[in-house]
Amino acid sequence: MVKQPHPEVEYFGKLDAEKKKKIAEEKRAKLAKDELKKLKELHFMRCPGCGLELETVVFKGVAIHKCFNCGGVFLEEGTLEKLCGHESHIMESILELFRF
Ligand SMILES: [Zn+2]
Repeated sequence: MVKQPHPEVEYFGKLDAEKKKKIAEEKRAKLAKDELKKLKELHFMRCPGCGLELETVVFKGVAIHKCFNCGGVFLEEGTLEKLCGHESHIMESILELFRF
């Protein structure tokens, strides 16, 4: 015959398990946060193509990031829309960008 745990013991056991699960999730979240912080420190304003520093330049009134080593250009979220939003000659604008 299997002995059933007392309902009170089962309740506190469940509370304990939930508490431990929450602690484990917090540790995992903290690790992810630390990892993200580490990655940002390592890669912030670095060219995704060659790894050297990006320089901020203003192009048509909008700040963009350009690598003067490999010629790569990095646009932050919304930057392309800002550049193209008020331009009808999109290709001309993009080509001009690479003439620096
Ligand atoms: Zn580069």
